[in-house]
Amino acid sequence: KYYNQVEEMKGKIRVFCRVRPMSEGERRQEVGGEVTAVEDEFTLAVNTQRGHKSFLFDRVFQPHDDQDAVFQDTNALIQSALDGFNATIMAYGQTGSGKTYTMLGTQANPGIAPRAFQRLFQLVEGGKARHDVYISAYMMELYNDKLIDLFKPVHTVESERLEIKRDKKGSVHVQGATVRNVTSARDLGQAFEEGLMNRHTASTKMNVESSRSHLLIVICLNVTSKQTGNVLKGKLTLVDLAGSERVSKSGASADQLREANSINKSLSALGDVISALSSESSFVPYRNSKLTMLLQDSLGGNAKTLVFVNVSPASYNADETLISLMYASRIK
Ligand code: ADP
Ligand code: MG
Repeated sequence: KYYNQVEEMKGKIRVFCRVRPMSEGERRQEVGGEVTAVEDEFTLAVNTQRGHKSFLFDRVFQPHDDQDAVFQDTNALIQSALDGFNATIMAYGQTGSGKTYTMLGTQANPGIAPRAFQRLFQLVEGGKARHDVYISAYMMELYNDKLIDLFKPVHTVESERLEIKRDKKGSVHVQGATVRNVTSARDLGQAFEEGLMNRHTASTKMNVESSRSHLLIVICLNVTSKQTGNVLKGKLTLVDLAGSERVSKSGASADQLREANSINKSLSALGDVISALSSESSFVPYRNSKLTMLLQDSLGGNAKTLVFVNVSPASYNADETLISLMYASRIK
């Protein structure tokens, strides 16, 4: 059954939509109610004063769909990475739309990352008789087009020299990044938590909101067949993208505008790349941003990509919700 799912996804980009529930506060303040309606498993509609618009997805998750339901439709990608594919899962949307909830989750409701770590090592354990698997990871933040190594404990941002490189086969790696070997889900989970803590420390020091940077963890898998000695290399990349919201030019400081420009540029570059891949265009503009350069071997080609477009149901977010859905239709 699983192989069918993976075959279907070969070289394909899937776009899922997830609508978060209204928060307690939004309900209490009656901010004008909900503007989104899930019409069926594949269609999300938005109702505003300007009219009614429907958007089609590979899958739409409703506000009441829980983390389990979301992971059900995601976990085939973990096996793909073990089968030698580069699998990428990312979340796009405005700040507050549920990207981090989807990718990381909370203590009580773990999201894709902790579940993927568990799943990965379950699969490794299950295949132990046939394969030796060697797993390593690196984790970074991309802020203002600058890469920050999150596995480096002491942060002197100025001294960072991380460079995105591609080898002869086209595989991307980050020169200078700290690579951690991990041997259990706990190990990987701990490394990830440390990375998040380093991110917090760094962002406090630089006075940056975490929503203004992209977060990436790349898990590299080296799978050796015990029978044939054949080696397969796959990757699992998880990305919590920076908030896609527009920043008003009037109230913003110079730093905030620079931040907003950099986010804008990288998210449109990502959109351009995915849309070029989806339309099987012969030229894919990977080199327009560091984000797309980092993901060059993990989008398109032999890669399997899943993009969550997270949206808020609330009426005061309607403009940003529409912009996110438009972005989604561009990359489909
Ligand atoms: P983002 O990362 O896009 O800024 P968050 O993931 O931080 O947004 O979500 C904003 C708030 O909404 C958080 O308090 C989060 O726990 C809550 N939330 C988001 N999505 C859901 C969901 N599907 N179910 C329940 N709570 C959610
Ligand atoms: Mg977030």
